[in-house]
Amino acid sequence: MEKFVILGKNLKQMEDFMIDNSQSKFRAKQLYNWVYLNSVSDIDLMSNLPLQTREMLKEKAVLTTISVKDKQVSKDSTIKYLFEMGDGSYSEAVLMRFDNRSNLTACISTQVGCPMNCAFCATAKLGFKRNLTCDEIIQQIFLIQSDMSVKVTNIVFMGQGEPLLNLDNLLSSIKIFREQFQIGSRRITVSTCGIIPAINKLAEMDFQSTLAVSLHAPNQEIRKSIMPVALKYPFDDLLSALKSYTEKTSRRVTIEYVLMKGINDSVNNAKDLAYAISKLKCNVNLIVYNQNDKSNFKKADKISVQKFKYILEASGKKVTIRLERGADIDAACGQLSSKFSNKKV
Ligand code: SF4
Repeated sequence: MEKFVILGKNLKQMEDFMIDNSQSKFRAKQLYNWVYLNSVSDIDLMSNLPLQTREMLKEKAVLTTISVKDKQVSKDSTIKYLFEMGDGSYSEAVLMRFDNRSNLTACISTQVGCPMNCAFCATAKLGFKRNLTCDEIIQQIFLIQSDMSVKVTNIVFMGQGEPLLNLDNLLSSIKIFREQFQIGSRRITVSTCGIIPAINKLAEMDFQSTLAVSLHAPNQEIRKSIMPVALKYPFDDLLSALKSYTEKTSRRVTIEYVLMKGINDSVNNAKDLAYAISKLKCNVNLIVYNQNDKSNFKKADKISVQKFKYILEASGKKVTIRLERGADIDAACGQLSSKFSNKKV
């Protein structure tokens, strides 16, 4: 018989499960607290549950269907996790702390691999295997919390995969993060490479988490040369969709822009970008490319990054530079999985 997967269930579902298995309803609340408040991953450690309840849980339920396969810790204390799914495939997540602030941000995956084929991306080289289920998405946060004995405060959907191609499971997982894990909508960011129909859907449902868009180019010509998605959803159409998204939701979007040397990092590129997004309610996040040995792309020089920032700021935009995290480990998405995939060959 298929086991009951505890993670992801709400209190009512846990109560029904306890009652179906001749336990008191009250035991569900205790289980709920162990899972969501304390991230305890060993049923034997749930000390206020009677032995008989724990034995029943071990027989009829599992906490998670994924497990930590590997973990790398960077000198800057960024931690990269490789998770193994029930079917033997892998997904990745990264835990980061910025500027010694108390916020702990986890970057998680929504797909195994990715079908979008961006030229600069390590994940793209893995190809696409499948969508993660809602359970698999949320278990990443549970396993990180449980492994580190910490509470994740912010979630970014920027790991492997295109979240808006797995929209139903993405939205179900966000609901569970809000309701069960008590992580507010405003502390959740979804990053997309620009799937216009899904952006329109989010606008219709008045999405209240942050939408980040990986633009990475100041015009259609450069964008289509590095991001095949631009052939289907062109640059100008994407900006129009974002404009109506900000009008419908009254939320600012974040423009993500990875600076790659000689590709999109010139002064003219910065001016073109400033012009293209001048009417869009947005902040800009510049990212220094996480160079790796599998890619021919190089990171932009420090001076180009600063010039780029000044030009956008002069146009009135709020601009941040995302620091390179975990450069000594395989923190760019896809790098750790690709290592394991290579080992398996
Ligand atoms: S950058 Fe994002 S959307 Fe593009 S291939 Fe990589 S994971 Fe997919």
